[in-house]
Amino acid sequence: MKHLTPEDLGTLAQRLDSMKQAALRDLQETEASAGTDVPAAGHEVHSNADDAEVERIDETREAEIEVDAVRLHDITLAQQRMADGSYGSCIDCGEDIPLARLTAQPIAIRCAGCQTEAERLQHR
Ligand SMILES: [Zn+2]
Repeated sequence: MKHLTPEDLGTLAQRLDSMKQAALRDLQETEASAGTDVPAAGHEVHSNADDAEVERIDETREAEIEVDAVRLHDITLAQQRMADGSYGSCIDCGEDIPLARLTAQPIAIRCAGCQTEAERLQHR
């Protein structure tokens, strides 16, 4: 990451940190909301339709938790790479990831070319 100055890294580290706080907060909020939209008093007799609805909400929440968890994982990965000095290099070709790209997306682990290629392979 020779192309990144300590100032650049400091700024990116701060952005990663606030992204992590936001992701953690989202995750906690999603988890904390568990049960709040389940019909409570006056709804003692559950019909099958109610159960299906509750299940659907649970699935949505699980998907949200999953998205948050993946985001958190990417942020943590970027922070680890920053700590071991590999941050800012493409994990596929080893080229420097331009600062502009890192600024736009601090969790980027690939250069634009390799990212496009990786997504193309994923969606096949
Ligand atoms: Zn690359």
